[in-house]
Amino acid sequence: MLNVPSQAFPAPGSQQRAASGGRSKVPLKQGRSLMDWIRLTKSGKDLTGLKGRLIEVTEEELIKHNKKDDCWVCIRGLVYNVSPYMEYHPGGEDELMRAAGSDGTDLFDQVHRWVNYESMLKECLVGRMAVKPVAVAKGYKNHEKKLLNGILLKSQVSDLPAKEISPSYDWFQTESLVTIVIYTKQKDMDSESVIVDYQDGSFRAEIIIKDYSYLLHTELSHEIQEDITVRVAEKTGKVEIVLKKKDNISWKYLGHPLENHNSFTAHRDTGLYYRKCQLISKVDVTHDTKLYCLMLPPGTHLQVPIGQHVYLRQTVAGTEIVKPYTPVLDSLNLDLQEPLHPHNRYIYFMIKIYHTGLFTPHFDCLQIGDCVSLSSPEGNFKKSQLQELEELFLLAAGTGFTPMVKILNYALTNITSLRKVKLMFFNKTEGDILWRNQLEQLADKEKRFEVEFILSEPTSEWTGKQGRISLALLSGFVKRSLENSRVLVCICGPEPFTEQGIRLLKDLNFSKEEVHSFTA
Ligand code: FAD
Ligand code: NAD
Repeated sequence: MLNVPSQAFPAPGSQQRAASGGRSKVPLKQGRSLMDWIRLTKSGKDLTGLKGRLIEVTEEELIKHNKKDDCWVCIRGLVYNVSPYMEYHPGGEDELMRAAGSDGTDLFDQVHRWVNYESMLKECLVGRMAVKPVAVAKGYKNHEKKLLNGILLKSQVSDLPAKEISPSYDWFQTESLVTIVIYTKQKDMDSESVIVDYQDGSFRAEIIIKDYSYLLHTELSHEIQEDITVRVAEKTGKVEIVLKKKDNISWKYLGHPLENHNSFTAHRDTGLYYRKCQLISKVDVTHDTKLYCLMLPPGTHLQVPIGQHVYLRQTVAGTEIVKPYTPVLDSLNLDLQEPLHPHNRYIYFMIKIYHTGLFTPHFDCLQIGDCVSLSSPEGNFKKSQLQELEELFLLAAGTGFTPMVKILNYALTNITSLRKVKLMFFNKTEGDILWRNQLEQLADKEKRFEVEFILSEPTSEWTGKQGRISLALLSGFVKRSLENSRVLVCICGPEPFTEQGIRLLKDLNFSKEEVHSFTA
């Protein structure tokens, strides 16, 4: 059984309270945390005012419910009475009111499409829209997709820019193998762009092509073994997925199409797909942070690209909670060998446990062998940002160190043009510094790498730099060694830290293209 923390949060003095100026979170009143919301939804209180009745909502009716104390919002055709939720919304009441009496699907997707609103708001469900209302933000098109021998008609793909060509697929078999071939017609495809899942007879392959996803989703006509091979021809963009038959019999057809089979849609319009991963190990990193190793199921092929994150999902007190986390490596890999083995089924996370938090205390209660759901990767960092780089500056605060781990390793291992990598690592106390020994050893061993620790709450023994991010601290450290050198500055940490860092870097004359900030 998971323990539900009974104490109220946000905790007084917690980092997020101090950060109330941040853009996406507002300070919530006492007794208005998400855990309090979950408790309210379980209390049996009538939250819609309709005594459990579900109604069909017309557009005219929806528009009428546009006030704080009477606020209905439509998300993907379902209408919710969000008035009771107002005070619990981490983004604040005003943010929620932007969608009052209208279709909030686009607004919702822009801010946090990964939040499981169906579960969070299920007690607020008023009913279904009689007719789909016009969206507030830019059009969300929902095209019907029809199958035509594995080829999509141009009119059956969503919002596709003229230069994009829809992929197509084919399949063939030998006595023991079935090979599915996807013609993406794209150069520079790699195996990170291919995500395959085989679970309970259902086969799903998602091919990520720039901002689009090509999906094959089918109930296979026969059983297969779980080890699936993925091959990508980088030059032609041909993807081959090789399935091993369980019985060596001839297949008459590949399978029955499932939802969104053979579709090519904007990535933002595809829902997040989850698979269950097993917890393999957890090891202390500091007093409140641990390194967790999760194992992908055998039928899954998934690699999380450098700088991207995934969502972990678990059920807390009957409600599904989803939070983003950035995979790291098992260590800083001091031998600087390429650690990203393509068939590696282990994914490592460095996660800080907030005792007053919603997700992490429950995550930490997982026992070895327990399962947690893990989404496909997301994020806008691209490896190409590191190509031909000469100087790399990493500004990390607290667990904002996590995206820097793979970037640091990849840059030092693969980018031959790189002359210098400098990490400025901001923490509260010495005890909070993640992988301090490994970082110091790396700096000793690798002359191109330099690390500086800055503490915001040091003891009197600390002789190093102190304070929070400031112009004085940055101007001495984030300095180009040559006027025209190719530079990238990566920044990640609490939102106010990141926002302030971006402003300061602008003052220091770094261009937008030279700064990459990690956010949700
Ligand atoms: P929460 O419930 O979010 O609470 C955290 C703290 O904030 C608590 O002290 C709580 O009391 C306080 N709080 C909550 N809501 C409010 C509010 N409205 N006002 C004031 N205070 C509040 N974390 C990692 O440890 N490792 C990672 O690799 C990692 N990667 C991330 C990647 C991305 C893209 C992003 C956006 C975040 C990442 N995080 C990571 C942070 C992570 O997603 C969670 O936010 C974190 O684990 C806290 O979750 P929680 O539910 O346990 O705590
Ligand atoms: P923390 O509270 O321990 O603070 C670490 C340091 O951040 C502090 O020592 C201080 O130097 C700086 N800092 C904190 N609040 C600040 C403020 N208001 N203004 C300026 N500087 C401030 O940090 P933590 O608890 O480890 O939190 C890490 C944060 O990083 C979380 O908010 C998490 O969501 C975020 N994170 C984001 C990503 C991502 O977007 N990809 C990845 C990992 C972590």
